[in-house]
Amino acid sequence: MLPNRTGDGTLRGMTLPRIAIAALGGTICMTPSAEGGVMPKLDAADLVAAVPELEQIGSLHAETLFNLPSSALDFGILRHVLDWAGHQVEQGAEGVVITQGTDSLEESAFFLDLYWQHPQPLVLTGAMRNPGMAGADGPANLLAAAIAAASPSAWGRGVLAVLNDTAHAARRVRKSHTLAPDAFRSPNGGPLGTLVEGRWHWFSSAERRAEPLAPAFITPHVALLETCLGDTGELLDGVLAAKFDGLVLSGFGTGHVSPAFAERLGPVCRRMPVVMASRTGAGHTTQATYGALGSEIDLRKRGVWMAADLDARKARLLLWGLLAAGTPPERLGEAWAAWLQGAPSQ
Ligand code: ASP
Repeated sequence: MLPNRTGDGTLRGMTLPRIAIAALGGTICMTPSAEGGVMPKLDAADLVAAVPELEQIGSLHAETLFNLPSSALDFGILRHVLDWAGHQVEQGAEGVVITQGTDSLEESAFFLDLYWQHPQPLVLTGAMRNPGMAGADGPANLLAAAIAAASPSAWGRGVLAVLNDTAHAARRVRKSHTLAPDAFRSPNGGPLGTLVEGRWHWFSSAERRAEPLAPAFITPHVALLETCLGDTGELLDGVLAAKFDGLVLSGFGTGHVSPAFAERLGPVCRRMPVVMASRTGAGHTTQATYGALGSEIDLRKRGVWMAADLDARKARLLLWGLLAAGTPPERLGEAWAAWLQGAPSQ
C-alpha cells in the first residue's frame, strides 16, 4: 500500500525526496541473448520504467554506471560507485539505490559500508529471477529499496542490502542460496527490518558503526584461501611467490588449520598480515579456547589475527581497506583490532 501522490509531484503537499538510482548490471537487468543464456541488457531507465509505483516514492535520478554480471565487479568499479553515490548525496539526494548482480552483492555492500560517511541510506538490491521469468523479483526489490532510500527511519544505518522485502546490514548479509528468492540471510544477529504495506519496520535502532576508513590511495592484493580436510598449506608457497600484500584464511570451526598448514604460516606472517576467519558461515572465531597445533592460540602466537564475526570475504575487504589507506605495517594489527572494537557485533 503506497501513499497517494498529488498531481504536482508532491506527496500530501510535501516535496518528494530525491532518490538517486544507479544500475551496475546483474540478473535484475538480464534478458535472453542471441549467444544463449541471459546477459545484462536493461539499463537504469528500463528498470525504473518497469515500476510505476516508484513515482510515488521519490523524485528519481537514474543512471546506468555499468552493465556487468556481478562477478566482473572489482575495486576500481566500486570506488567509482562510492564516489558517484557520495556526489549524489552532496547534490541533495536523500537516499541512493544501487542495483547489481546478487553473486557479489554482499561484498559490494560491505566494501561501500566501510567508506560510507553519510547518514543518508545507501541501499543495494538485485534480483534472483530475471525479468523474463514468472515471479521475477527485480521490480519488487527495486521498489522496496527505493522506499528504504526514501525513509528517514533508514538514516544512520549505513549501507543496506534490501531483497525479498527484508533489509540486511552490510556487515552480516550473505547470499546463502544459489537460486531461491529468499537467498539473502543475516547470520550473527538477523536482518534489520521488514517491509509491510509499503513501510519499513526496523527491529532495532541504528547500530553503532565503525569510523569510515581513510580513502584508499593504493590497490593492495589480498589473497583468500579456504582450508579443507588434509590441506597441508602448499598453496601458501603461491601466496608468497605472487607477492600478495595480505592473506585471509577461511579456517575450520572457530579458526583452525592443520598442524602442517600452521607450520607453513610462520614465513607468511613475517611477510604480510594474515587474518583467520571461519568457513562455517556463522558465529565468531575464538581467541583463547583451543590449544592444539593449528588452533587459534597457536596461530595467534605465530602472528595471525582473528576475524571475529567477519566472514573471510568481509575480512578480506577490511584488510584491503586498511592496506589501501597506507596504514604502516607496524600499526596494522592495532588498526584491525580498533575497527572490530569500533563496531561491536551483535
Ligand atoms: N550472475 C548474476 C550476477 O551476479 C546473478 C544475479 O544477479 O543474481 O550478476
